[in-house]
Amino acid sequence: MLIETFFVVFISGISLIVLIAYFLDLKLGLVVSAVFSVAFIILCHPSILLVALAVIISNSIPVATTFLKKVISEEHRRLESDLKLSREAYTRLLNEYSTLNDENRNLNRVATEVENLYEVARKMSEALEFDDIFKTFNEFLNRGMKFRECKLLLIEKENDNFYIEKAYRMKHPTISSDNEVQVTPPELKDEIALDIFYQDQRPIFLSSDRDSANLNRFYPKCDIKTFVSNPLFVEDELVGILVLEDLAEKDFEKFLILASQFALEMKKVKLYETIQRLAIVDGLTGVYMRRHFLERVGEEIRRSEFHKLAIAFLMIDIDHFKICNDRYGHLVGDVVLGELAKILKQNVREIDIICRYGGEEFAIVLPDTNKTSASIVAERIRETVEGFTFSAFDEKPQITISVGVSSYPADGSKMEQLIEAADMALYKAKHTGRNKVCIA
Ligand code: GH3
Ligand code: MG
Ligand code: MG
Repeated sequence: MLIETFFVVFISGISLIVLIAYFLDLKLGLVVSAVFSVAFIILCHPSILLVALAVIISNSIPVATTFLKKVISEEHRRLESDLKLSREAYTRLLNEYSTLNDENRNLNRVATEVENLYEVARKMSEALEFDDIFKTFNEFLNRGMKFRECKLLLIEKENDNFYIEKAYRMKHPTISSDNEVQVTPPELKDEIALDIFYQDQRPIFLSSDRDSANLNRFYPKCDIKTFVSNPLFVEDELVGILVLEDLAEKDFEKFLILASQFALEMKKVKLYETIQRLAIVDGLTGVYMRRHFLERVGEEIRRSEFHKLAIAFLMIDIDHFKICNDRYGHLVGDVVLGELAKILKQNVREIDIICRYGGEEFAIVLPDTNKTSASIVAERIRETVEGFTFSAFDEKPQITISVGVSSYPADGSKMEQLIEAADMALYKAKHTGRNKVCIA
């Protein structure tokens, strides 16, 4: 019983010392431990050895407890700092994840744009005419950008001066439901785009916020917010200007990429037009070659049949051209042929079709023209040639022409019949003195 009481008191005393040393203070622990030792000695009258043991144990406990407390709090601090580092690493990872997500979204957007660009480039490259390229270009602009109107001004050059040949226009679908390409003569506003080009031969972006003075100068009394003009060059020559009204500034860069692709397509179309022209136009005289001419005559006859209109056919042959060649040489003869073609062009209408039918033979189709009117035209041409002084390599050859005239439907309803009738009339002119017009 005494032993049990002793152990209970001893364990309680030790626990109290541990608690005081751990949670309160080492010195207080030592004081309590001294009190405890004295109480133990007074109450239990132990042997000297036990007294010594009790004193050693009870006094070493607060020291050991404090040491343990120090070790535990150091460990606690280390764990806390590890936890802090882990938290920071986690926050960093979270940030990086969000940045990666943003970048991923950006990349996806750029990929879609590149895909669209590729698609528009592919579609534009299939087109062989300006209106088709412009339409495809516009479709893409409409899908990806906001603006009011997009224009392509086709530029031609005459005597070192640029002029706008025609304007292709298209409104944004949110402005107008009619999304057909309109081809119109240039307006005053379009001429302004050409003025801007003369001032600054680069793409420009004007905004009413920043450049209102400039914008007002070019676009007086106009309510547009932004103005974009992008010159298009083929072999360093201005061939067109792309104009956009009210384009958002953020889309300007994208527009420029597309515009440079557009310029490449313009180059291709120009080349295609040149090849086409070379295939159908006679190099020496600049008028149609026979094959293309016959196709066109066929179309004209069908059109005249449908609309019940007359159509006239002229066959023209230079008189004694062989003598001209023999006297002045072939090169002079070539110049004469070129000059004669110019005279023919100057004496007929835009809609009339001229061709070099053979060596020194020309044919002209005059749509919606009866035989009487055609013979007046033929006579006018004959007279002009007779009175014209040709000039080539210091020579001044004089020539005359004979002309045969036939007409639809009087001389036949087929092209071959009309040609043959005109040929017969020409033959008659040749055999009745030359330098004259004969009617079939
Ligand atoms: P006619 O009044 O009967 O038509 O006499 P012509 O001498 O004009 O007729 P012919 O058919 O005998 O001769 C046509 C001449 O046209 C022969 C040829 O040297 C010349 N000629 C044809 N093509 C060219 C060309 O491209 N350049 C030149 N310089 N001469 C050509
Ligand atoms: Mg001849
Ligand atoms: Mg001939």
